[in-house]
Amino acid sequence: MKGLYVHIPFCEHICFYCDFAKRVAKNREMIDEYLVHLKKEFDQIPLIDRQFDTVYIGGGTPSMLDIKQLTYLLELFKDLKPLEYTIEVNPESYTHDKGMLFKQYGINRVSLGVQSFEPEILTYIGRKHHNTQVFYAIEDLNDIGIDNISIDLIFAIPGQTMASIQHDLDIVSTLAIKHISYYSLILEEKTVFYHQYLKKQFRKADIDLEADMYEYIIDRLNALGFKQYEISNFTKGNHASKHNQLYWSMDPYVGIGAGAHGFDGKLRTQNHRNLPDYYEKPLASAYHETDQQYLSDTLIFGLRRLEGIRIDDIETRFGFKLFEKYPKLIQLQALGLIEIVDQHLRLTRKGLLLGNQVFEVFI
Ligand code: SF4
Repeated sequence: MKGLYVHIPFCEHICFYCDFAKRVAKNREMIDEYLVHLKKEFDQIPLIDRQFDTVYIGGGTPSMLDIKQLTYLLELFKDLKPLEYTIEVNPESYTHDKGMLFKQYGINRVSLGVQSFEPEILTYIGRKHHNTQVFYAIEDLNDIGIDNISIDLIFAIPGQTMASIQHDLDIVSTLAIKHISYYSLILEEKTVFYHQYLKKQFRKADIDLEADMYEYIIDRLNALGFKQYEISNFTKGNHASKHNQLYWSMDPYVGIGAGAHGFDGKLRTQNHRNLPDYYEKPLASAYHETDQQYLSDTLIFGLRRLEGIRIDDIETRFGFKLFEKYPKLIQLQALGLIEIVDQHLRLTRKGLLLGNQVFEVFI
């Protein structure tokens, strides 16, 4: 599998938790200029290398581009015909015409930024949409024939209660969607929340409450027919994100656009986030993973998936016995954080909550 990630670094407003590469566009011309540079970068990929199983247009907010800009963007990739073709959409910038354009250009998956269904929580985290816009986008996309819809949700937001999560999941149970990415709020540097935190105006959610929420989310989503296949991802039927699985499987992907990352199986690249620098020369840095980095990424990304890692596969590929190289695994197994099932090492339910304690063994 090989993927293409395309970054659109513009948003209509900045959410208080977000540390992605993004800015509020001063005007439409600024986006036009960016798209010309994006095309330039894409054109540099030799034709022979343009075979992608997945294409993912993320941001930022790709759906805030107007129809003309979206057409220009989607024209660039019209010959790729990937198996899975995703675009990120924010409910407030979705329109029927954009949905039709997505369909016309072969987009077959939409990732919708919802985060919460509670108006007070949305205001608190700096989101501007209303639930009616979410419902409209989901219904309209299904009508258009794009039924592989994923929504992003967040838990452990200060002020969120178990009742808020239950309410969010009550609404989820009524939606025609196939996939959910459910993340806990992470306090990232260079965000509005982080500045509030430094001024003691932001208090992280209670850790026990966060664990209770996570357990409830897993159980409730299971009951609703969503199978968990990764720490934060749940699918109904056969709709696990092929693009994201590519990251967890250490498969190669090309990243284009400001701030985009790429990986060719050994070499990791990152583009400039800053637009003038990106325009001058997209690539900001590149390094070959050492054998140790490659091994630890393989194990950590692999264990994020519920099926875990195949022990004999790892031992054959890397030439060691897993439990001999990492004796601490015995301790983690005794603590009930990991288990071996069908020759796979995987996180237990308790391990899903405390994944970082497991991952640090491999660093
Ligand atoms: S969360 Fe999405 S919409 Fe909000 S600022 Fe970040 S990229 Fe933009």
